[in-house]
Amino acid sequence: MDIAELRDRILKQDRRALARAITLVESGRSDHRAQAAGLLDALRPANRQAVRIGLSGTPGVGKSTFIESFGMFLTAQGLRVAVLAVDPSSARSGGSILGDKTRMERLSRDPNAFIRPSPSQTHLGGVARRTREAVALCEAANFDVVLIETVGVGQSETVVAEMSDLFLLLLAPAGGDELQGVKRGIMEMADLILVNKADGDLKATATRTCADYAGALRLLRKRPQDPDGFPKAMTVSAIEERGLSDAWEEMNTLVTWRRESGQWDMSRAAQARHWFTEELRQAVLAQLETPAAQQEITAAATDLAENRLSVSAAAEQVLTALKITQR
Ligand code: GDP
Repeated sequence: MDIAELRDRILKQDRRALARAITLVESGRSDHRAQAAGLLDALRPANRQAVRIGLSGTPGVGKSTFIESFGMFLTAQGLRVAVLAVDPSSARSGGSILGDKTRMERLSRDPNAFIRPSPSQTHLGGVARRTREAVALCEAANFDVVLIETVGVGQSETVVAEMSDLFLLLLAPAGGDELQGVKRGIMEMADLILVNKADGDLKATATRTCADYAGALRLLRKRPQDPDGFPKAMTVSAIEERGLSDAWEEMNTLVTWRRESGQWDMSRAAQARHWFTEELRQAVLAQLETPAAQQEITAAATDLAENRLSVSAAAEQVLTALKITQR
């Protein structure tokens, strides 16, 4: 299938074409990279936008259960839902634990849902780019909502928040009044905190935990992207499918407010700018890894060691040889 055909099929919401295109953007081969870039460029004029929702939470908090329930809730409203994942562990182990279809069995059979497990990549930067491109492909394939799942570890939340319109933090009910060690930075990224498992014996604890987080959120600095009352904390039960419609309503309130206030476009523009800079940075770094660059680096390092060059002159010599700076 050539790129023009792939584009046409994606625009017609062909899922197999979408899956194939995602495989293309996930490939590290340079000819595939070029084709992927061509495809993304060909899809851009369609200018379709989904609501991109980032979702983070530690293992066991109920992410896959929530995505399944929430995804089914959305498709029942006639919405088309795509699920992608940014998996920081796959960068290390090569294994994939997120966006796993066996964890979302009902949703994976839903014709209005599309689930794509996280790619295994060597570093988070690579995972980020591929996920971002997969999001763009899902938007072109006319999905209304793209859910991007990640585990609450390290930098992956930041990566996901930078490609999302809304960021949800899923938490479990916690005993006592300690705030589960959620880092302030992550709290500051959240648009909605959802305390899951608000059912059965855990219901009262969940309500208390939710109140604690609501209190903590009130102490945060007001952000320009929020109307009054946001960010919010709410309880949900993914298993009993409770609180999902309230949560969706809050998300819609935010989306509408941000669209009307111009924050939506500003945020998307800032994100595009961020990823552009990131891509440039990665591309320049990659240039230092080529065999020719390594040779230049070794030569300059020898001159440095033998005191023929200063540190900055050695760096300059390599940059000039690689045509990254011009003397
Ligand atoms: P993940 O690792 O974050 O994807 O979490 P899972 O969705 O796999 O859920 C972890 C465990 O929590 C499973 O045993 C689920 O059945 C349970 N769980 C998930 N959601 C709920 C919920 O709303 N209520 C209760 N009581 N248990 C839940």
